[in-house]
Amino acid sequence: MKKALIIVDYSNDFVASDGKLTCGEPGQEIEQNIHQKIETYNSNEDLIFYLMDYHHENDPYHPETKLFPPHNIVGTEGRNLYNSLKPQYDSIKHSNHVFWIDKTRYSAFFSTNLDSLLRERHIDTVEIVGVCTDICVLHTAVDAYNLNYQIIIPKNCVASFNQAGHEWALTHFENSIGAVVE
Ligand code: ZN
Repeated sequence: MKKALIIVDYSNDFVASDGKLTCGEPGQEIEQNIHQKIETYNSNEDLIFYLMDYHHENDPYHPETKLFPPHNIVGTEGRNLYNSLKPQYDSIKHSNHVFWIDKTRYSAFFSTNLDSLLRERHIDTVEIVGVCTDICVLHTAVDAYNLNYQIIIPKNCVASFNQAGHEWALTHFENSIGAVVE
């Protein structure tokens, strides 16, 4: 097994109390768990991918414009990593095993070079953390399944504003896409 860590949308807008589309406390409670997970991957020089939602304000061509308030707008503080994850990222971002990828849809794989980077490096397993469990983490995990990756979801590193959605997604990961939920 050769694995990579994918951190999904852990930005101020999705996590901070005043974020534009925040998960609130459930999102904030997983900060140290994700921080520690990144430390472990980094010390092993295993691959770390930061996948971050990227929007322009009131983009008339984007489907989310009708669904959600503006969030993760390019160039805003809301799009920065939340709290301790930002200085942590700044301290490791020049390493060969750390990548930042902007994404414009829920899935980290849609219209990005993530799959290509993983395949070049012979990665067969992705560990997915971040928010929201039942939206961007879910769509990323489903695409990873369709692309034949093994999937690990650490329960204490994912969260949602919607507790029922969070619980449903964890069950779906385990029962429908064969993920290891641990
Ligand atoms: Zn978005």
